[in-house]
Amino acid sequence: MRIEVVAEKCNACQLCVKKCPYSAIQIQNKCAHILPACILCGICIEVCPQKALSLIGVKQQSMDLNGDLWVYLEIQNETVTIPSLEIVSKLHFLLQDYPHPKKIIGLIIAKEVPSLKNYSQLSDIGLEGIITIPSLMDAPLENKAIALSSIIQQQKPLSLLFPASDEGRDLAPRLATLLETGLTADCTELSFDPRTHLLVQTRPAFSGDLMASIVCPFHRPMMATVRPHSFPVLPLSESSKPLSITVLEDHALSSEMGLPLVLEKEPKHSLFPPIEDKSIVIGVGRGIGSKENIDLVYEFAQSVNAAIACSRPIVDHGWLPSELQVGMSGKSIAPKIYVALGISGSVQHLTGIKGAELIIAVNKDEEAPIFQVAHVSLVGDIRTLLPELKRYLIQEAK
Ligand SMILES: Cc1cc2nc3c(=O)[nH]c(=O)nc-3n(C[C@H](O)[C@H](O)[C@H](O)COP(=O)(O)OP(=O)(O)OC[C@H]3O[C@@H](n4cnc5c(N)ncnc54)[C@H](O)[C@@H]3O)c2cc1C
Repeated sequence: MRIEVVAEKCNACQLCVKKCPYSAIQIQNKCAHILPACILCGICIEVCPQKALSLIGVKQQSMDLNGDLWVYLEIQNETVTIPSLEIVSKLHFLLQDYPHPKKIIGLIIAKEVPSLKNYSQLSDIGLEGIITIPSLMDAPLENKAIALSSIIQQQKPLSLLFPASDEGRDLAPRLATLLETGLTADCTELSFDPRTHLLVQTRPAFSGDLMASIVCPFHRPMMATVRPHSFPVLPLSESSKPLSITVLEDHALSSEMGLPLVLEKEPKHSLFPPIEDKSIVIGVGRGIGSKENIDLVYEFAQSVNAAIACSRPIVDHGWLPSELQVGMSGKSIAPKIYVALGISGSVQHLTGIKGAELIIAVNKDEEAPIFQVAHVSLVGDIRTLLPELKRYLIQEAK
């Protein structure tokens, strides 16, 4: 792909030179000249009043807006996960203003789709079809990605979204690579551009200092992973449409491909309860001081039926496992109560607790940024305030 300048049309007005964010255009011999720094962002094409610039080498098929909106529906405990439902619900909301008719289709790897525990909820939030590939149930991720890529190449969805869960974060990049398309990781907002009708995928960038809105104009499907708890799951206001189920056999997957096959799966054991499930989560930050103190907080968490989570330095110290990290490069949680113990309140950490209903912060520094978002602020030393906090949480839990 490259930007071509039609010399006969260019009047060297310099508008493209001024607007190019990459300083990748110069006027040479009274005509715009594209330099190697060009990243094909296309801004020059848009601003040129003479229509002298165009992008060439893009297949028309890669730019069309045909195809449906697919969502990878992750299954846990025979239930479609809430983060998967959140994406469906958001897309249904966005489609209300979308000019082209589109269906939301769920991609499921499960044996018996109708026996999923929340099956009836799927059409109630706007899902119209399901494509299921039961044979991939026990396949390793590499094989799943290969098989799904062949299905996607045949069916040509316009977009494919994944929850930004462990599975989604692992599978989506493999698929995007196989499909030679882009992937926006960890989106917190989705919309459609009213002019181009492309999916606008928004995510925090530069350590959360700004929000980047990303589009994928020249490749299909448009792919993204979406942060859990970014959107609510809303029931339809109108009556739901019947849900079609297409069961696909997987022809791409075979042992002849030379890929590993799973003979046995060993369940992953963790000492800690999953932080996404509990209504009270106690987050531990660097202010805790030592690993021994974390053990005290863990006992405290158990006594109030809470999960324990942490900020990134705690994982970096090796004091708690990475699955407990909350924030931009960790998990997003939406508990009823989040207790931040010795956490300063960096933007990266706060990104992960946006969905918390009540934030209680304990910090010895009254200027700590966490107090700007906390609903209950306790200024003082963690160890001194733990008994007071326990009384409060037991009261709240009643
Ligand atoms: C790209 C990128 C991604 C990141 N992703 C994440 C992420 O996902 N999650 C995350 O958490 N961070 C993330 N970070 C790191 C982030 O920038 C902060 O460094 C981190 O959140 C700080 O953790 P903290 O609040 O535990 O530590 P600190 O900022 O060091 O804060 C410790 C706090 O404890 C208080 N304190 C100290 N002693 C006591 C005491 N005895 N009693 C009470 N209070 C006490 C202090 O006053 C201080 O406010 C990321 C950074 C980058 C660059």
